[in-house]
Amino acid sequence: MSDIKIYDAIVIGGGVTGSSAGMYAARFNLDVVVYAEQPGGLITTTNLVENYPGIKSITGPDMGMVFMEHAMESGAKFEYDRVSSIEKTELNGKQVFKLLVGTAEKEVFAWTVVLATGTKHKYLGAPGEKEYSAKGVTYCALCDAAFFKEKIVVVVGGGDSAAIDANILAQHVKKVYVLVRKGEMRAEPVNIKRIQANPKVEILYNTEVAEIQGDGEKVTQLLLKDGKTLAVDGVFVAIGWTPMSELAKQVGADLDERGEVIITREAETNVPGFYAAGDVTNAKFKQAIIGAAEGVYASVAAYNYIQGNVR
Ligand code: NDP
Repeated sequence: MSDIKIYDAIVIGGGVTGSSAGMYAARFNLDVVVYAEQPGGLITTTNLVENYPGIKSITGPDMGMVFMEHAMESGAKFEYDRVSSIEKTELNGKQVFKLLVGTAEKEVFAWTVVLATGTKHKYLGAPGEKEYSAKGVTYCALCDAAFFKEKIVVVVGGGDSAAIDANILAQHVKKVYVLVRKGEMRAEPVNIKRIQANPKVEILYNTEVAEIQGDGEKVTQLLLKDGKTLAVDGVFVAIGWTPMSELAKQVGADLDERGEVIITREAETNVPGFYAAGDVTNAKFKQAIIGAAEGVYASVAAYNYIQGNVR
């Protein structure tokens, strides 16, 4: 056992949540490594963040980097590899987690794990979506808006992502339709007001996509469920996110019906030593500030676990 390096804590995920967990773990003097497959995390695909208390306005990429730098300066190590699997095992009678990391599937061991893997975008599931992916169908307005200068685009979705995407797109395109399947949007009122006030944006309620159609090379129109067609050059899908909770499932953590990891207020799962934080969990509100706070709780829990079970 003495030959094997065992980290006090491994944080999986290098977004705002993972960096916060890494920062606090390091400040608790834990030997911690953060696996950041996507450095900075999902926030780096956001244009401007204006709702993090204490920071009036910051770009998403800057915010992701600032959080990582803070964690590193506190003593957390960062590795830019993917964790492909995790299992509970025993070394000298003590529970330890074994992770496989990177393409070489290197074995890495830790007494505790903090899962902060976040979410991935949902697919519409409409005919034509796969065929025209990257040929007009996209999932990131911030990344792709500039490719649609003076074009007509549609955003599908009625939440904050859709509203924010519509505003970003309106800075580049001629016209943005927002397709909302219900009779109202569920975005924050401030975001709804912004798009309602934008002359380039038109919201179509009770409207759903039946098929994305094109000429084989690029999207040309949408066939709607009411039988009408809408001529568009681009389709931005913003219909929510699916939790990346596969690793939690592997280790036996309980998930809810949406696949989110069930945690206590202190970021504990049902598996001792295994914690989860941020958007991957069943926390009701998916926000950077919530993820950051849960990351902190997770590191405190990891510290207490190590004091009670390892040291
Ligand atoms: P949400 O889950 O909030 O909203 C998804 C929207 O897409 C809903 O309007 C939903 O419709 C619609 N939808 C889902 N499936 C389909 C479908 N198959 N066809 C058509 N429409 C569909 O997702 P968001 O990504 O908008 O937001 C997720 C979380 O992230 C929220 O908590 C949000 O507040 C947060 N967020 C915060 C931001 C910020 O603070 N800067 C930025 C972006 C998101 P219905 O209402 O009918 O279910």
